[in-house]
Amino acid sequence: MSLVEGILRGDPAAVSRAITILESDPRGEAARRILDAVSSRGGKAAVVGVTGPPGVGKSTLIGRLCDEMASRGRRVSVLAIDASSPFSGGAFLGNRVRMEESLHRHGVFMRSIAARGSTGGLGGSVWGALRVLSAAGYERVIVETVGAGQSDVDVMGIADVVLVVVAPGFGDLIQALKAGILEIADAFVVNKSDLQGAEELARYLEEVSAGRPVLSVSAASGDGVRRVVDYLEGAPGPSRRDERAAAAVRVALEEILREEADELMNTQRAREILEEVASGGVSPRAAAEMILALRHREK
Ligand code: GDP
Repeated sequence: MSLVEGILRGDPAAVSRAITILESDPRGEAARRILDAVSSRGGKAAVVGVTGPPGVGKSTLIGRLCDEMASRGRRVSVLAIDASSPFSGGAFLGNRVRMEESLHRHGVFMRSIAARGSTGGLGGSVWGALRVLSAAGYERVIVETVGAGQSDVDVMGIADVVLVVVAPGFGDLIQALKAGILEIADAFVVNKSDLQGAEELARYLEEVSAGRPVLSVSAASGDGVRRVVDYLEGAPGPSRRDERAAAAVRVALEEILREEADELMNTQRAREILEEVASGGVSPRAAAEMILALRHREK
């Protein structure tokens, strides 16, 4: 059985192998062949983005969401983006392993996909993995990222609906929310509703959420999880999807421009111009324009 046949039959081993290929070389020949073969096949999975700071209970919540969705007859898969951030690993790894074991028992497909060292490739490989999962017949894909800023915006640009998960007791939470995470949410989930401070946090979010739902849950006990799934089943409106797509493209564009800036700074002529800036003869802005003009002439 070929790899593509395996994917189309929903064989988890084939799906996993295809994702490994997409992850290691998203723009390579093998990846392109897989994507060409699966793109026109199969349905379109609804993609649920779940993001939030480490420790708020995303893994626990996702386990619960999967159980609830599976009990409603949905074929569910989870794509966990390993941002290789300083937060991940250690204590969180244990929870992750437990989550994976529990999900596999319930017939939920779960894969981590590494973001390490890929500039601009992250969105690409995740996008490809979603195509593969759709072709394999999964109706729901939960994409999980650690709420760490830019990479979330990048990934969440391809989600149909985004849940931002928060919990009481995270001092830097408001800061994280301000750093762009607030805009990408379709709904907020206040987890650990069993703990003190949860109600206060929910009230605060209701003030700043501009009408977006604020759902309180306790992932540990399962309280409120059905309401989150009810929301997801009823949700995706196209309007925020457009905004998120724009945000994701902007992030990718900035990345490309930054790479180009690095290249431009490395030219001999740029170094000469820099000396003029250092000696006070030319302003940084004028220097940047001179360097840009060089590029336009080359093209
Ligand atoms: P993640 O890093 O966001 O994926 O968080 P985890 O799912 O690994 O959970 C972090 C910690 O919070 C773990 O010790 C969980 O057992 C705990 N936790 C998760 N959900 C709840 C909850 O609803 N209430 C309480 N009290 N603890 C929870």
